[in-house]
Amino acid sequence: MATNTYEHNEAFFQALIEHSTNALVLLQPDGCITYASPATEGYTGYTCKELVERNSFTLIHPLDLAMVQSALATVLAIPDRTETIEYRFLCKDGDHGWFRGTFTNMLTRPPVCAILSTLYDISEQKRTEERLRRNKESSQTLLAREQAVLRQEEVARRHLNDLFMQAPAMVCVLRGPEHRLELVNDAFRQLYPRREFVLEKTVRENWPDLEDQDFFEELDRVYQSGRAYAANEKLALIDREDSGIRDEGYFNIVYQPIFDERGSVESIIVYIMEVTEQVLARQRIQESEARLRRLIDANIVGVTFCTLEGRINEANDVFLRMIGYTREDLRAGRIDWARMTPPEYEEIDAQAISDLRARGAIPHPYEKAYRRKDGTLLPVVVTAAALDEANPNECIAFILDNSMQKELDQRKDDFISMTSHELKTPVTSIKGLTQVLLKRFEQRDEPDIKRMLLIMDVQLNKLTKLIGDLLDISKAQGGQLIMEQKPFDLDTLVCETIEHMQTTMATQHIKLVGKANATIMGDRDRIGQVIVNLLSNAIKYSSRNSPIVVKVFREGQQAVTQIQDFGIGIDAGYQDKLFNQFYRVTDPREPYPGLGIGLYLSRQIIERHSGRIWLQSRKGEGSIFAFSLPVV
Ligand code: ADP
Repeated sequence: MATNTYEHNEAFFQALIEHSTNALVLLQPDGCITYASPATEGYTGYTCKELVERNSFTLIHPLDLAMVQSALATVLAIPDRTETIEYRFLCKDGDHGWFRGTFTNMLTRPPVCAILSTLYDISEQKRTEERLRRNKESSQTLLAREQAVLRQEEVARRHLNDLFMQAPAMVCVLRGPEHRLELVNDAFRQLYPRREFVLEKTVRENWPDLEDQDFFEELDRVYQSGRAYAANEKLALIDREDSGIRDEGYFNIVYQPIFDERGSVESIIVYIMEVTEQVLARQRIQESEARLRRLIDANIVGVTFCTLEGRINEANDVFLRMIGYTREDLRAGRIDWARMTPPEYEEIDAQAISDLRARGAIPHPYEKAYRRKDGTLLPVVVTAAALDEANPNECIAFILDNSMQKELDQRKDDFISMTSHELKTPVTSIKGLTQVLLKRFEQRDEPDIKRMLLIMDVQLNKLTKLIGDLLDISKAQGGQLIMEQKPFDLDTLVCETIEHMQTTMATQHIKLVGKANATIMGDRDRIGQVIVNLLSNAIKYSSRNSPIVVKVFREGQQAVTQIQDFGIGIDAGYQDKLFNQFYRVTDPREPYPGLGIGLYLSRQIIERHSGRIWLQSRKGEGSIFAFSLPVV
């Protein structure tokens, strides 16, 4: 056996070890180095001398020490046992080198009597491993990262897609210089419910209805310049139904270029919002505002924007001219319609204000007056409407200068007054002469002359009454209608008046019902005049043999007289105007004589007695005219 052959050849083994490229170290169980072969220096940098008697544990990397000690413990427990481990060892150059080391328990084998440790430098292998590990690790993380990025991109893409598809705005994506359709969302499809958009086809093929407009050119410009572009309220003629008929629409459009990684435009996202409704509504408002402005500026009537309290915020030139104030006064807030109004019109203004609050408008224009800046009075006709029904405090008022009308009225009144005065004297004298002639012919046998004189007398009575009424009108207007203040019994007056009327009229029967048992304080003749007026109308406006019913009764402190006929009646639309001066309901098919004075005078008289006059009537069914007077 070879062992036997070399058994005693110590020098041989010595030479073998000394020249071996393997590093051999002998250790004691406590780690103390007792021998290091020359090759050890090549591995560790330490000379044999430097190593012997050093504790190897001090040179082991602290992280590997426990492992080394555990391997030693294992080999110490069993003679001849070998353990192989990889660990780091502090070399002389200050770096830790990687070694694969074996520990063999040769303590029981003289002359070794130590732990034999071989060292094999595996630093390079470790470095390679480390590199590989790192490479692997980094390629794994790279892969993971790439996958994560891809996932994120996918999520973002889907998100974007959903966003586009469900966006309330119309969105389409157009790719390349020909703007080929890449994506079009639902909102866009709703604009063209019948159109089949074809992806990959150009914008010109998909939207032929836009051909002669400048949309494609705008897209070209954005594509070429790379600059986003927005168009507001752009008018487009579009064939929504694909029927060949284009209608107008207004759109807010944004063209947003998308760039590729080289920075060139790849596609364009187009966002569109239809704003047709808003634009048309605004146009309508602008048109109506312009129309109103033209009306105001036309200076036909006075126009003001004012509050119900009196402040005038705006007024046109006509109004300012009417009231003699300047625009400067207006700006300085010196014009206040309430302060310009004389006290006698406060009541009628209060009524107008309450109408404005309740209904947002005044039902009829009404007459009033303003005191001009110079103190003179200006008669006007006013009407107004709330600007905003929800807030009736601000209104627009139209004011007509009524002074011309008032002047004409005055001239008419003067004329009536003058002519009635002028007529009164000759008519009175003709009437007196007629009476004389009647007396003279009373005993004579001249029936024709007597008949003619009687007709003259009747006609003269009518004329006298007419002149009396006209004079009364003038007096009423001047506030000179004088009323006596004496107590009288209403029932007697009514009874007497009916009897008198009945004697002059044989065909129609006047029936009296009830009693008022009331003493009235006032002018008996004037109240008698009212009853005559109402009875005459009842007779005049009903057929020859229909009855007339007069009813007198008490209602608390009021005595009511009612005159009812079953004649032609009055349409509801005219009823509130009947008591106005000279107002007549004229129906050309029913010519009734009259001037529209009787009811006007009747109202004046009744109101002067603190009473009230009214009517109930239905066209074709007859009327009830009634008045009430306070009982003494
Ligand atoms: P006049 O009878 O002279 O025209 P009034 O002032 O008495 O004037 O009456 C005004 C108008 O009212 C009349 O023209 C007539 O149209 C209407 N009217 C008055 N009384 C009656 C009535 N009893 N029935 C129908 N219409 C009447």
